[in-house]
Amino acid sequence: MAAPDFRLHNTLTRKIESFSPEDGKTVRIYSCGPTVYKPAHLGNFRTFMFEDLLRRVIALRGWKIFQVMNLTDVDDKIIKSASERGISISEVTTPITKIFHADRAFLRIEDAELYPKATDHIPEMIAIVERLVERKLAYLADDGTVYFAIDKFKGYGKLSRLDTREVKAGARVLQDDYSKENAQDFALWKAAKPEDEASGAAWDSPWGRGRPGWHLECSAMAMKYLGETLDIHCGGIDLIFPHHEDEIAQSEGATGKPFSRFWCHGEFLLTDGSKMAKRLGNVATVQDLRDQGVPAAAFRHFVFSTHYRKQLNMSSDALEASIEGVRRLADFAARLAEAKAATPELEKIAEETDAEVTAALFDDLNAPIALGALFTFVRRANAELDRNGVDKRALEKAREVFARINSVLDVVPEAAGPDPELARWVEDRLTARKEARAQRDFARADSIRAEIEGRGVAIEDSPQGTKWKKLR
Ligand code: AMP
Ligand code: ZN
Repeated sequence: MAAPDFRLHNTLTRKIESFSPEDGKTVRIYSCGPTVYKPAHLGNFRTFMFEDLLRRVIALRGWKIFQVMNLTDVDDKIIKSASERGISISEVTTPITKIFHADRAFLRIEDAELYPKATDHIPEMIAIVERLVERKLAYLADDGTVYFAIDKFKGYGKLSRLDTREVKAGARVLQDDYSKENAQDFALWKAAKPEDEASGAAWDSPWGRGRPGWHLECSAMAMKYLGETLDIHCGGIDLIFPHHEDEIAQSEGATGKPFSRFWCHGEFLLTDGSKMAKRLGNVATVQDLRDQGVPAAAFRHFVFSTHYRKQLNMSSDALEASIEGVRRLADFAARLAEAKAATPELEKIAEETDAEVTAALFDDLNAPIALGALFTFVRRANAELDRNGVDKRALEKAREVFARINSVLDVVPEAAGPDPELARWVEDRLTARKEARAQRDFARADSIRAEIEGRGVAIEDSPQGTKWKKLR
């Protein structure tokens, strides 16, 4: 039997193309990760959930995965935050990184294979800049910054398809920095300012003390861990320009090889019609979901109910509908677990559902169609279970298919009632938190709290001790 076709939209060609990993076995993915200066918002997590879906569908297809997601732990916002508080950049980024992982765990986003930090890869970044300078694609300007010369790189603009001349003309008007040769040239390496030195964001380089530009870290870490040509590079749609365009220029300028075979981008999460963004002040976080008792399964259902390449508007009505939807899935899961047998028709229904869901997911990750098929399955299977059949094989098939679909979508909420394993774990973490507080190690106490909350458990301190409860 021929292997099923797996298709993905490639931003590079603006087409849905047939995909398979270069080596036939392992899909090498690079995802642009969070800037760890504030907890990621649900818009960021929509993108990370699209990447989680991609991972799980790749696993369903039978390939292995090696995914690298970077953590941007040095940039303007982080340095500003550190300077204002008189601390180092790592004191800003370490606790936020912990929250990121706890939030990710709450949302059931699978672990990537690697989460490298930008600050651990300064030598690799410097090596790329040296190659670009050597190839005359980069130059040192009077202000001590090393810029990439976009005019010298033939392919500039191929991903974003912006008319580079137009971009340049527009940018020139705004340019107040005359040390660049061209207004659109971007910084590879920036000369250190006093606040960079004070916050631990400056390193030695052949061009003096400085720090990397944002785009550079992704080229360096992607190529270090995944090779010079990746299978898939992904991120949110706002990264196409300039971030990914500049990553291509740096990487291909240095190696002369295509940087990534596929580029995949997820659309925005909106609130009240505008992009969810920290600077607009319209963000909601995973903590808000926990506080409002929205189960991870419901948020996943909400996100997957719209195709990843379409905008998605968040509203309380939509979340309520998802909460209700996954409650039905939980009831069905319990019924399926308790059933003893079913009618033979259920086997046929399960097989049809399996084929329909797989086809949808392999067709550019069409989760909304897959979800729709899952709910149709639940309705039809409930009707079959009402008929009290005696076919054990049909029941087994239904269980198997339901589990397989849920291994990708992961939309069944945890069963209600105390879970002894969880209870033991929470008690153990609460003891560790109490010890940390006794030693006045509040950073550690906070990170333990985040870890506990990451498993959907709310805790409340009172004079009688700490109480906890599992959120719905
Ligand atoms: P940042 O931490 O700002 O670097 O963003 C991390 C990821 O979230 C990037 O892939 C962004 O493209 C993505 N992102 C930012 N805002 C949104 C949004 N409102 N909806 C979906 N993805 C977003
Ligand atoms: Zn990146």
